[in-house]
Amino acid sequence: MAKNHKIKLAKHKQTGEIIHIDKANKGLLCNCECEKCHNNLIAHQGKKEPWHFQHENNDISCNGSQETALHKLGKQILMGHNGINIPVHGMINYTDQIEEKVIENRLRVDVAATYENQDIYFEIKVSHSNEEAKNEYFAKGHHKCVEIDLIDAYKSSYENIEYLVLKKTTNKELIGWNSETIPDRHKDSRLNWFETIIYIASVMYVIYRIGTSIYNLICGNKKPMSKQQYMRNKAKQFRLFNVL
Ligand SMILES: [Zn+2]
Repeated sequence: MAKNHKIKLAKHKQTGEIIHIDKANKGLLCNCECEKCHNNLIAHQGKKEPWHFQHENNDISCNGSQETALHKLGKQILMGHNGINIPVHGMINYTDQIEEKVIENRLRVDVAATYENQDIYFEIKVSHSNEEAKNEYFAKGHHKCVEIDLIDAYKSSYENIEYLVLKKTTNKELIGWNSETIPDRHKDSRLNWFETIIYIASVMYVIYRIGTSIYNLICGNKKPMSKQQYMRNKAKQFRLFNVL
């Protein structure tokens, strides 16, 4: 039978938690069972082959339901942390996590939590299955959801899976987040500088116009009259006086 190196995620028999091969104890000391068939697994952590779990009874042909296990591991990581890096908003903190919360009596959400006094939902995506009903609920009701894409990540190291869940942003999609909920601090700072310069320039122009108007009013802007001009004006006034 061909060796199967693909099982990297197993279920711990006592805690029920998903254990990655990178974090397991060696051999049968891992105390793990298969997520699918529930038979005992042995942790192989040698130098020759990639680390993997193997069924204790090697005759069993079983793939170990790695997508299901990965889905559980994703939830487990979210439940065990309080911060996540997401698109647009960057690092955000959440509290009061609830696993497998049922909302509206019909939709089961992977992890529900509280973020800035509002509900936030996390969905772990491990396959291309259609979640239209759920996404419609988030989008139409403006319920904040972060969808985390972990497709094919069951082949990855534990470190990488944790990175995909908590740190990377390009594998995440925001559903139901209004654009107006984006805080000001995330606006383009170059735009703010441009706006400030235009504002200061406008204020200075208004001050300049008011200043020159006041100056003209008080001091006048006429050139002093020459002597000849003064005499001509006087003569004009005299003639006009005579006519009258
Ligand atoms: Zn199995």
